[in-house]
Amino acid sequence: MLYQRDIPVESETDVLVIGSGPSGLSAAVAAARNGASVRLVERFGFLGGNLTAGLVGPCMTSFSLDGSIQLVRGIFDEFATRMESLGGAVHPSKTIGGTPYSGFMKYGHEAVTPFDPETAKIVAMDLCVEEEVELLLHSFVVDTLIENGEVTGVVVANKSGLIVLPAKIVVDCTGDGDVAARGEAKFEHGRVKDGATQPVTLFFRVADVDDAKVDEYKRDYPDENFPFEHIVEQAHSEGSYTLPRRGVQLFKTLEPGVWRVNTTRVLGVDGTNAKELSEAEVTARNQVRELMRFFHDRLPGLENCRLLDTAATIGVRETRRVVGEYVLTLDDLLQGRQFDDVIAAAGYPVDIHSPSSTDGPFDEGIPPTANTYEIPYRCLVPESIDSLLLAGRCVSATHEALAAIRVMPPSFAMGEASGTAAALASKSGVQPRDVSISVLQAQLLKQGASFGPNYELRNA
Ligand SMILES: Cc1cc2nc3c(=O)[nH]c(=O)nc-3n(C[C@H](O)[C@H](O)[C@H](O)COP(=O)(O)OP(=O)(O)OC[C@H]3O[C@@H](n4cnc5c(N)ncnc54)[C@H](O)[C@@H]3O)c2cc1C
Repeated sequence: MLYQRDIPVESETDVLVIGSGPSGLSAAVAAARNGASVRLVERFGFLGGNLTAGLVGPCMTSFSLDGSIQLVRGIFDEFATRMESLGGAVHPSKTIGGTPYSGFMKYGHEAVTPFDPETAKIVAMDLCVEEEVELLLHSFVVDTLIENGEVTGVVVANKSGLIVLPAKIVVDCTGDGDVAARGEAKFEHGRVKDGATQPVTLFFRVADVDDAKVDEYKRDYPDENFPFEHIVEQAHSEGSYTLPRRGVQLFKTLEPGVWRVNTTRVLGVDGTNAKELSEAEVTARNQVRELMRFFHDRLPGLENCRLLDTAATIGVRETRRVVGEYVLTLDDLLQGRQFDDVIAAAGYPVDIHSPSSTDGPFDEGIPPTANTYEIPYRCLVPESIDSLLLAGRCVSATHEALAAIRVMPPSFAMGEASGTAAALASKSGVQPRDVSISVLQAQLLKQGASFGPNYELRNA
């Protein structure tokens, strides 16, 4: 069907950021701090993406794999520090792996950031308001405008109808690469052998947990990767409950008795397909009900817990990966490969929740990643389209490499780099791919970002 109509056109901004998760929030703030006029579009009525709407947490490590060096700094550190000063977070330098805040896991779980999602909403909003970022909430990007291979703006749908938002540079922080895909940029979807993606998960929180009893259980069963493993195995073998995965992944929050639960799991869902997402919401909400029955019946410390809340949306771990000027690979992460155009460093390892089985979470057979690895600017620059930058979950990486850099601290770092580059590009009238790397790097370092110890050694 061909559908035509006139659409109102808003004023042009220097930088238009789509999506306000960790990457979009930091992209918008960084672009504004670098002198650009910035509009931030978000489909929900509040900011934060998975930090808030997804109830996802804690922020995984912002440190090296061994927990010794803080790698992600800049706006992420400012965000964590501001949440902490409001009593809504613990700075990652104060947490250690193997403890309740890290879900009792050690590998990859040093120096996590537990935080309160309501505090995240406030700090995210404060940062944007302070930097005079124009917020357009309740607005969903439905199309991308392209002229001569260059993005000139997007079309959003909201209560006011359809609106065109023109911009010099657009930063796609939708997680799903919606802007890039609607602009017909090249992308990949899922793992190479069959296109399958990681499962989707609806986070929820439980209150009135007896924390001491959970700790006591963990002391009695120190070798279990997740707490309650043998109880879950027993339930599986009896067949008395329909449990979505082997193990219960629980993360203690700042509030006594309140834990986040990362345990629902729906396989085979395309997170860019609204019908499949709708079905997954129903499945996952039924899983929450069944898990609560299991918790009450079987889990020490959770006998009297109550469902505090479920996320506003099911969480999607993986969809489109836009093909950029460079595709980050697993080998880059294993070797800790160094890049001349490094814009961020991270230490979180590959974390693939199996796309095809209920076992997990770490993909067996993938060796440990380097203690620190680097992310180059070219992963943020789409190969086939101009005036567009990427950040967060939709950047240019393989299925395996994305499974490491997708977590929230690196997403903040990539967002800060994209926002800064977008402001530099719009100011100097060049394409993002032609931004001076040395100027971008100098500006990011001046803002407090870090590129890790290897960069420092090379430039000592
Ligand atoms: C189940 C699950 C568990 C996870 N566990 C952890 C964890 O414990 N710790 C951790 O650090 N990371 C975790 N992650 C990873 C992490 O949450 C994400 O990869 C990260 O949030 C990516 O940041 P982002 O900014 O790219 O995307 P998001 O946080 O997804 O933000 C994208 C934003 O864009 C908006 N948006 C999307 N499309 C449109 C559109 N078309 N128009 C307008 N707005 C749009 C969304 O509403 C959202 O606000 C988990 C992810 C999932 C799904």
